[in-house]
Amino acid sequence: MTQSKHDSRMPLLYGVYLLRSLTKQNSFYIGSTPNPYRRLRQHNGELSQGGAWRTKKKGYRPWRMVIYVHGFPSNISALQFEHAWQHAYRTRHIPVEKRRHNGKKNTGSGTTVHEKVANCRLLLGSGSFSRLGLKVTIFNRDIYDVWLTNKFQIDIPDYILLEIRVDDAIDQRLIEGGNYEQVKSFMSDIQKMEEQYTDESIETLKQQQEQHLCCICEMPLDVESDVICFCFHKECTAIYHCACWSKLIMLENPTQEMAPVLPIRGKCCQCGKVNFWNMVVRNAQTVKERCRKKDYLFTA
Ligand SMILES: [Zn+2]
Ligand SMILES: [Zn+2]
Repeated sequence: MTQSKHDSRMPLLYGVYLLRSLTKQNSFYIGSTPNPYRRLRQHNGELSQGGAWRTKKKGYRPWRMVIYVHGFPSNISALQFEHAWQHAYRTRHIPVEKRRHNGKKNTGSGTTVHEKVANCRLLLGSGSFSRLGLKVTIFNRDIYDVWLTNKFQIDIPDYILLEIRVDDAIDQRLIEGGNYEQVKSFMSDIQKMEEQYTDESIETLKQQQEQHLCCICEMPLDVESDVICFCFHKECTAIYHCACWSKLIMLENPTQEMAPVLPIRGKCCQCGKVNFWNMVVRNAQTVKERCRKKDYLFTA
């Protein structure tokens, strides 16, 4: 969790969020962060550091986090998404005729909640962001209703993952400072899931101690230098070169686009279940790091 903005590893949680004022329901704020829990506390003035000056204005706090877009392949692409959402009235990522705004500069990302959500959907479906394997987490029923209503009928690809973490109990209580517990449990669930995946991957390596062969090209895998994919599914012990898997996916799903693109998801060559590219590659990087540090060492 100590990644900087210029870290080249795939960030686990770096995401773009939408805040909504609890006192002024038509006031929003869009930002990005590697740590949504800490950032929300900064916005609400619970932490003095972090210069969240735009959310300091009197009468708007507390803010609650209502949408979190994550799964970016790099911090840079998260920052691009953030900037595009904030400036939806002029972003090159959304064609002029599709933009949802009233044309005024100071309402960059739209004035109503429907426009905010519409601009988010436009970006998710845009050429720049639709193939990144992004996920959207929604923390609030009202926002989920807006999402479902989809007032401007903006379609997004079916592989954009949507996670609903609505907690009506939180909605009914008078919230003193924002939805911290919700955001905190969201973060810890993601972290736990990824840690478990890495632990299982290393366990797979240990079990195949003698020789690691790629189950696609059948050539040896070098745990310290190759980027190795592990199937996400628990009962499957398939391992292969990331390069081999990406070739395989691209062959199975030929794309009409001219530019070379990264896969979003593909089937495991052994169990046939779907794996998501971002998750597999992020795990591959973590496993490699741990192998380099030798902390997987085969000391029985
Ligand atoms: Zn291979
Ligand atoms: Zn598998």
